[in-house]
Formats: sequence, C-alpha cells, structure tokens
Amino acid sequence: MEVCPLCNGFETVTIECSGCSSILEDQGKITDYFDDYSAYMDIDIMKLFDGDPQSLESKACLHYFYCANCQQEETRAMKG
Ligand SMILES: [Zn+2]
Ligand SMILES: [Zn+2]
Repeated sequence: MEVCPLCNGFETVTIECSGCSSILEDQGKITDYFDDYSAYMDIDIMKLFDGDPQSLESKACLHYFYCANCQQEETRAMKG
C-alpha cells in the first residue's frame, strides 16, 4: 500500500503555481471533491490526469491545489 506523504502529514510538499510561481495550497484529495468521479469524465477532469484514466485507479493519491494569488487550480498525483 502506497503512503501519500500529504495525507499522512509526514512531510510538506511544496508545489509551485505554474502560472505565477506562488506556493499552492493543498486542498486535500481530489476524491474528496468527486465522490463519483466517473460522472465528471465529460469535463476537464481528464486533462488534470494527463488524459490517463489509469491514474484514477492507480495508487497515486491525487491532490487538489489552489493558488490564492491567481486563483489557478491544479491537480498533482502524489506518489507514495
Ligand atoms: Zn494524499
Ligand atoms: Zn498562481
């Protein structure tokens, strides 16, 4: 079982905004936002996963990040 460093609080992961290089705020697991993510396949969510549906089923923990500076939203897969 992979362990996500963010979920377990073992370490702080710093993600920079691709738009303004500010530090993004971890908003938690994306699965907390999309309980039934399959219902959202028609929207931009697939882009967030690099178009790889396997990412959704993999052990990677997908986190939702938000930039308070430019309101950009990003999703990153945290590998255990
Ligand atoms: Zn996590
Ligand atoms: Zn930004």
